[in-house]
Amino acid sequence: MRTYDITLTISPDLVVWPEDPPVELQRVSRIEDGAVSNVTRMNMSAHTGTHIDAPYHFLRDGQTVEDIDLDLLIGRAYMLHLPDANKVTADMLENSPIPPRTKRILLKTRNSDLWANPRHKFKKDYVPLAPDGAQWMVDRGVKLVGVDYLSVAAFDDVVTTHDILLSAGVVIVEGLSLAEVSQGRYTLYCLPLKLAGSDGAPARAILTGV
Ligand SMILES: [Zn+2]
Repeated sequence: MRTYDITLTISPDLVVWPEDPPVELQRVSRIEDGAVSNVTRMNMSAHTGTHIDAPYHFLRDGQTVEDIDLDLLIGRAYMLHLPDANKVTADMLENSPIPPRTKRILLKTRNSDLWANPRHKFKKDYVPLAPDGAQWMVDRGVKLVGVDYLSVAAFDDVVTTHDILLSAGVVIVEGLSLAEVSQGRYTLYCLPLKLAGSDGAPARAILTGV
């Protein structure tokens, strides 16, 4: 059994969504300056790096991140590799080897290669999940969708795909780093920070499998 860390490392160098604040990690207490301990202050968007979108991110009365059911975030998952996709469509999902009744699907695309350089310039033409792909997930009873860039939805239409998934109670995990993982079945452990009232939260995500 192997453990794969599919989490991006949070640092001031990490690319963030264009309207989000950059990551600041500021040492506010330093042993080298005579303090008894080192202490870092974090300043960043809740949607930094590998993170969860709560329904409240796009839905006025949606659930906030601390209330997301942990049972959705932990369990069997299928990682689908679509190296040639420009967007992930219902057709591609329909014609894929995703096992029946799969509840958690992670999508690996050419996006994952971008994380070889975490400080790359934000890429607007990343591979998104198309709205019909999102509807396919809902219709199949999928409960968690993970993607390998900073949004599940296309840059020029961020609302539709998010709305379809979040209004159906599908958990969205964004910013996964999947370059080292091959297509197949795994167990996912994805644990977002328990931020009160938040539209999202950074998460540590790992896969275990062969
Ligand atoms: Zn999102």
